[in-house]
Amino acid sequence: MENAKELKEKLFFSKENGCIVLPDEELEKAAAFAEDYKAFLDAGKTERECVTEAVKLAEAKGYVPFEAGKKYGPGDKVYLNNRGKSLVLCHVGSDPIEKGMQINAAHIDSPRLDVKQVPLYEDMEMALLKTHYYGGIKKYQWTAIPLALHGVIIKGDGSTVTVKIGEDDGDPVFCVTDLLPHLATEQMKRSAGEIIKGEELNLLIGSRPFRTDDKSERVKLGILNILHEKYGITEKDFLSAELEIVPAFKARDLGFDRSLIASYGQDDRVCGYTALRALLDIEGTPARTQMVLLADKEEIGSCGATGMKGAFMRYFVDDLAAPYGIAGHTVLSASNCLSADVGAASDPTFADVNEPRNAAYVNYGPVILKFTGSRGKGGSNDASAEYMGEVRRTLDAAGIVWQTAELGRVDLGGGGTVAAYIAELDVDTIDIGVPVLSMHAPYEVTSKLDVYETYKAFCAFAK
Ligand code: MN
Ligand code: MN
Repeated sequence: MENAKELKEKLFFSKENGCIVLPDEELEKAAAFAEDYKAFLDAGKTERECVTEAVKLAEAKGYVPFEAGKKYGPGDKVYLNNRGKSLVLCHVGSDPIEKGMQINAAHIDSPRLDVKQVPLYEDMEMALLKTHYYGGIKKYQWTAIPLALHGVIIKGDGSTVTVKIGEDDGDPVFCVTDLLPHLATEQMKRSAGEIIKGEELNLLIGSRPFRTDDKSERVKLGILNILHEKYGITEKDFLSAELEIVPAFKARDLGFDRSLIASYGQDDRVCGYTALRALLDIEGTPARTQMVLLADKEEIGSCGATGMKGAFMRYFVDDLAAPYGIAGHTVLSASNCLSADVGAASDPTFADVNEPRNAAYVNYGPVILKFTGSRGKGGSNDASAEYMGEVRRTLDAAGIVWQTAELGRVDLGGGGTVAAYIAELDVDTIDIGVPVLSMHAPYEVTSKLDVYETYKAFCAFAK
């Protein structure tokens, strides 16, 4: 009998909750780290705001704007701000550049409602904005909650107006209204995807008519009058605006034990922030050149000039390597990437969507996904056993609490990350991220321990 017990310990693989395994000091450090992280979430509710905030943090640590054509040497810290919506940060290591880089790539766009280009209208003497949702949302989750408006308006003369309203305690908020249950008999017969339809996501922004004898569109006039006084804009300026409607909630501790964090936008700012912090906290010069990518547009397919399918990262590497007479692809082929994006945490209320042996659990640390995709791993980057082996050794050597998982049961659904696009550049890539509850909802939940262990995991690769 004794023999079997010993043999089990030697041969079986088992995982343990990080809150049990880690000493109290680590949990205290995780709690302290969560304070910084929550501040970042509140400061960056859009990709543009995240870039601004990341640049501020990077500059405080000595990062300067990248100049193509300049030869950078060990210890140099540069960033490339791509159109204010995605960011490349690079800390040049002491190893020759042709030995490749450690790339950690996260995305900083999150699901939300975007304001349409011709959005403003009046109906029943109320003013509303038409919206178009961005990313995969359950539309019904976005009604009857406080919403804030963030973004930029490019005026006719080319000047930019920055908008952020609904965040300060003294600010007004906005709302998508929903039907009262008393009269929702017909609505409740709709399928869940249509309980609120896309064209019903209309944002209520005011109700007071402008004082005039002309009865038509007096409320709309009142709103435009306020916007003109406040921002100097006219209705036509919406044409060249990017206005994003996001939850007006602040990041908060969740639970009697304060072990969890509830906030909008944790997918994927949780990986963006932890990867960024790990980079900025490097002391001295790393051996390997370290790069962090904060990408836009992941939630709609990584498209466009600011998404990971765009060329900005490739061009950056070309420009970084050129002064050494080395091709960018030589650097990329020798590089490794952690595609840093959130995983689906198992939810006790919806346990059957996961296969429990290959599911992610809250407080079990960052989750490594060898592959993502759907059905037969379609659309996935499937990391090699060799690279998975390297990652495993690095995490274990650093004492990180970590786990592996798939994104739900086979055949049930699926999803992808930026991993596939970076892997296509001949970079060994694997997915790692924080498990999230209620992913893509206006209020997402992570655990402080998982956030901190993910930060520590990125630190372990930043050597
Ligand atoms: Mn994501
Ligand atoms: Mn997502």
